[in-house]
Amino acid sequence: MSKRKFQTEVNQLLHLIIHSLYSSKEIFLRELISNASDALDKLKYLTLTDDKFKSIKYDPKIEISYLDKDNKLLTVSDCGIGMNKDGLAKNLGTIARSGTKQFLENLTGDSKKDSSLIGQFGVGFYSSFMVADKVEVISRKAGEKEAWIWTSDGKSGYSIDNSVRKTAGTDIVLHLNDEGKEFVNRWEIQNIIKKYSNHIPFPIFLHYEEEKYDKKGEVKGKEKKTDQVNAASAFWKRPKSELKKKDYNEFYKTISHDHEDPMMHIHTQAEGTLDYTTLFYIPKIAPFDLFQVDHQAGVKLYVKRVFITEDDKELMPSYLRFVRGIIDSEDLPLNVSREILQKNRILAKIKSNSVKKILSELTALTKKKDKYLEFYEQYGRLLKEGAYQDFENRDTLLELLKFKSSKTDDYTSLAEYVDRMKEDQKSIYHITGENEESLRNSPLLEMYNGKDIEVLIMDDPFDEIIIPSLQKYKEKPFKSVHHSDAADDLKTEDSKSDKKDLKPLVKKIKKVLGDQVKDVLVSSRLNESPSCIVADQNDPTAKMQEMFKTMGQSTMPDVKPILEINPEHKIVKKMKALGKTKTFEDLCWLLYEQAMLIEGVKLPNPATFVTRLNNFLIKSI
Ligand code: ADP
Repeated sequence: MSKRKFQTEVNQLLHLIIHSLYSSKEIFLRELISNASDALDKLKYLTLTDDKFKSIKYDPKIEISYLDKDNKLLTVSDCGIGMNKDGLAKNLGTIARSGTKQFLENLTGDSKKDSSLIGQFGVGFYSSFMVADKVEVISRKAGEKEAWIWTSDGKSGYSIDNSVRKTAGTDIVLHLNDEGKEFVNRWEIQNIIKKYSNHIPFPIFLHYEEEKYDKKGEVKGKEKKTDQVNAASAFWKRPKSELKKKDYNEFYKTISHDHEDPMMHIHTQAEGTLDYTTLFYIPKIAPFDLFQVDHQAGVKLYVKRVFITEDDKELMPSYLRFVRGIIDSEDLPLNVSREILQKNRILAKIKSNSVKKILSELTALTKKKDKYLEFYEQYGRLLKEGAYQDFENRDTLLELLKFKSSKTDDYTSLAEYVDRMKEDQKSIYHITGENEESLRNSPLLEMYNGKDIEVLIMDDPFDEIIIPSLQKYKEKPFKSVHHSDAADDLKTEDSKSDKKDLKPLVKKIKKVLGDQVKDVLVSSRLNESPSCIVADQNDPTAKMQEMFKTMGQSTMPDVKPILEINPEHKIVKKMKALGKTKTFEDLCWLLYEQAMLIEGVKLPNPATFVTRLNNFLIKSI
């Protein structure tokens, strides 16, 4: 007997499931059935593509036995792909998905909130421990002779030993606990299957015992019976007119592990040059691993209702990786290999039609403002990624983007911004950073506010990378107010004369700051503040450089910012009269340091800044 411990994350997950999902115990059966269905799908694929498995007699079904009333055993069996010793240890003892640890740590302990979040994560097999105090998994992998039994009480770990099983497949045997015993009965089982698993494409049989009566109506022993409980037809193939929202929501739960109803579904049954069906769902809450490199793909590919693959990230463009659902093609060959799929023209066409369909539904959703914002809060960042990646659909995607703005507290679209643009305004201005409040108060906005020009407030650090690459919207270039040339098309003539006058001062400041700045310029964008920093036309901003450094990208060259000074500000005016004194030097540094701080960039040496500041405070007290 080999005893092993669960990975820490499994323990945490088990604990959470038991404490936050107890009010929806019934989902354990949905999870076990959907695992069984996946296992059948995977074996079917092998029988079609791998010579070793072509001779296997494949009679897919899921069997649930509820016979042993006294011992209260409930068994879920499938004749699918099965697991060997390693598979059992890996699949039922660890959670391999990266980001799991952090995800579990972030859960709050507020069971209501946790239960919906944990649903996003997918509770899967471990949910059995809500109704069982012991679970046995007897499994034999297709193509192998040995069978194994995995046993656990869901607390101390698990053991794996040799076992026997005549054919490939898996039996999950639940030893029901007190609550489970009370809760599980034949009717309940039937109801749960009908509710959650009616549209699993394989037949689900329920084996049970029924009391037999004689002519006088007295009990005369028991009779074994079997009923097929579900409809066992591919849900997505049913006519749309027959399907209600409730049906769509239930099917969603069988394919997604999600606990909540989806935000929306998009069902397409195309006939003509290409015959295919797609059924896509958008989860209400973004899947937790969207920004992990090894996020799970959410779309499954079927050919003529036969499952082909689920982990192919090529089925959807990566920016639509939050979409869950299925693609089922009538035109692809059944024994298509994954390598061929990637170059297949039929699939490429289905994919491109699907993307257009999803984007057009989202465009329609923009008409319902609140609903669209709910969507955008979850997935907005991915649409920006899309506008950056998907050249073919860029125009549509640009219309789907929303931004905060200096002129509204609400989100605005680019079209609305352009509508409000002044007649002589040539560019779309934006400011980027991490904090909305400090962006709204940034000195960089002073000139724009003064001239009543709208600036988009982009407080997602991601914007700083994406927006420059979009270049323009409806022939209007995007201009970052952080760049030295942003104000060029707005400058007025009179500012030029000031500049000459200030030449000696600028030269002196430059000398003090040395190579900490790329240049010192007289600003025409400041009203209230004495100084600001900007990046040279094609340089990354100071904030962006800091971001890349924290991400571990040290390859980025260290480019210095440009310091702009406000010729109208008292400090600057007074500096003109000062010689090269210590006070002058300190003022130069303070102009630079305060501008950096306002940009949200950390000072390399905050202590020197504070000392300088205190020196001036002492003088003024
Ligand atoms: P998920 O289904 O989300 O991956 P589970 O915890 O339910 O999470 O299952 C973990 C893994 O165990 C599955 O991905 C699958 O590889 C394996 N597994 C579970 N049940 C079965 C089964 N009946 N047959 C074969 N493999 C299974």
